[in-house]
Amino acid sequence: MSASTTRQMTAAEMPLIHSCPACGSAAASARRAWRFINARGETEWLRCPECQSYFMDGEYDLQNEISHTEQMTWGDSEKGEQLNDYKQRMYRAVLSKVSSLIDPHGSTLLDVGCSYGGFMEAASEVGFNVFGFDIVPQAVAHVNSVGMQAQCCAEVKDFTLSNQNFDVISVLDANIYWPNQPQQLAEIFQRLRPGGLLVMRVVDKSWMATAGAAIQRLLPANGQKILRRAVNDHRFSMPVGSFLTLLERTGFRIISASPKGAVHSDQTSFPVRMSFAMGTALWHASGIFLAPGAVVIAERPRS
Ligand SMILES: [Zn+2]
Repeated sequence: MSASTTRQMTAAEMPLIHSCPACGSAAASARRAWRFINARGETEWLRCPECQSYFMDGEYDLQNEISHTEQMTWGDSEKGEQLNDYKQRMYRAVLSKVSSLIDPHGSTLLDVGCSYGGFMEAASEVGFNVFGFDIVPQAVAHVNSVGMQAQCCAEVKDFTLSNQNFDVISVLDANIYWPNQPQQLAEIFQRLRPGGLLVMRVVDKSWMATAGAAIQRLLPANGQKILRRAVNDHRFSMPVGSFLTLLERTGFRIISASPKGAVHSDQTSFPVRMSFAMGTALWHASGIFLAPGAVVIAERPRS
């Protein structure tokens, strides 16, 4: 055996084996984007050549994901409930949009990644018959304790509290933790009645990540700071344009997609609110996406 085959491979030579969690394509030709330390420790990030998403190179382990979430604000029992209050502005904007398309009275809604039930509560108040699920047991116990129906599970196919097809399925700030987005979207499509709606709040700070990765090469500390703001503790960062293409590929018809309504709170800082306002104007004028997030509504076509 030659020396070259017996020596340890360096990190740069290691074959990339994980597929892109955002679009599902085999990531054999994914390029290394950056390495940094955030709430998940030190991780390597790659860029998918198919959908241009950045994603964390790492095995998905549900138990690790639950432990990680429990340490974050939205997994913590006290702060998770405070976050429910904080996000009211976004919940109201989303519900007003959905209610203009579907009458909430007599309609069912499943909230994927329901956390401490803030959106379920708001949806119930406007008339929806609500269900939810989450991976954090304490969050699910809380939702049940206030009289709403939630189950502890990770995937739509494992949700068994109701076997009917839903009128609305909501995914607010949750898809960025999925290990396989195309699979989850396909499962959601199957659990919607024909004519039913998928409503999502998606995060897209891939433009900020691109800037952070470039700056990191010259000013490592500044670059890392931008990257941490760009990806938080998410598993991937997908451009909104690529996400809409994926929805259509899954069979959905896109009704609307806009940064409008995606601002979390009236207390959201002025620069972030400005970024949403300018991003909304730019998106509608030119199709260029430079906002921190968007609300997307798509329909499972009737035929
Ligand atoms: Zn991809």
